[in-house]
Amino acid sequence: MDCIFCKIIEGTIPSKKVFENDRIIAFHDIQPAAPVHLLIIPKKHIPTMNDVADEDASLLAELFAVARQIAKEQGIAESGYRLVNNVNADGGQIVYHLHIHLLGGTKLSPVLTNIQS
Ligand code: AMP
Ligand code: ZN
Repeated sequence: MDCIFCKIIEGTIPSKKVFENDRIIAFHDIQPAAPVHLLIIPKKHIPTMNDVADEDASLLAELFAVARQIAKEQGIAESGYRLVNNVNADGGQIVYHLHIHLLGGTKLSPVLTNIQS
């Protein structure tokens, strides 16, 4: 499968990992948009949030639990952070393997003003 994140999971493309278990990995975004910019992804290849099935409910919950844990480890739980999931073309999705962006380490600009490009 020609999926860049599956290759990161396999280890054929390098990444700076901060977390890994049987179901999930998290690593640094290659083009950070904030001082902390990590991607949290399931090892299961799910292209977009639209493709999440009912049986993935616990996996999705675990993705958020890992995000919460990493935010704490990165020291930004109290200062604050943002979790982002882009879906399809209008949502700005570039990599079609489900991922949550964890952004923080600075005061982030408001996300819901001038949101249309
Ligand atoms: P999205 O627009 O939500 O699909 O975001 C995809 C993200 O993946 C972007 O922020 C990219 O900078 C990031 N990205 C793409 N390739 C890599 C890679 N090889 N390692 C780490 N992050 C990547
Ligand atoms: Zn994939």
